Amino acid sequence: MEINEIKSRLSILTVLSYYGLAPDHNHRLLCPFHKDTTPSLQVYPSTGTWTCFSSNCKAGSGDVIEFIRLKEKTGKHEAIVKAQSLIDKALPASLPEPLKTEPAKAQNLNALFESLATALQKSAKARDYLKSRNLAPP
Ligand SMILES: [Zn+2]
Repeated sequence: MEINEIKSRLSILTVLSYYGLAPDHNHRLLCPFHKDTTPSLQVYPSTGTWTCFSSNCKAGSGDVIEFIRLKEKTGKHEAIVKAQSLIDKALPASLPEPLKTEPAKAQNLNALFESLATALQKSAKARDYLKSRNLAPP
């Protein structure tokens, strides 16, 4: 898997929750890379990046892979492997995400559903099937 594909498929929020970290509603949290008393770490879910704004912190900023690399205290290659394993685990939970970020697509699905529901009512075969399954037509 290409690094860009990993970055586009692995949400920074998924990575945070994997490490038991939860950002507040401003997407800020206590930085896990230095002794933090006020939330200094800002995450940017739309770009999958983060920045620690504390001057006491050497982490600076990075992406999901850099976050994993720092958390695991490992090399970049190991971090990429870890990132891929998180994608595999996170897949079901992250599926609705495109619908949230792409309302146009969700509308297309609504239109598709409506056209299918209309088509269904025109089909005697489909109505009979619903009846046989004890399902109410939409
Ligand atoms: Zn920090």
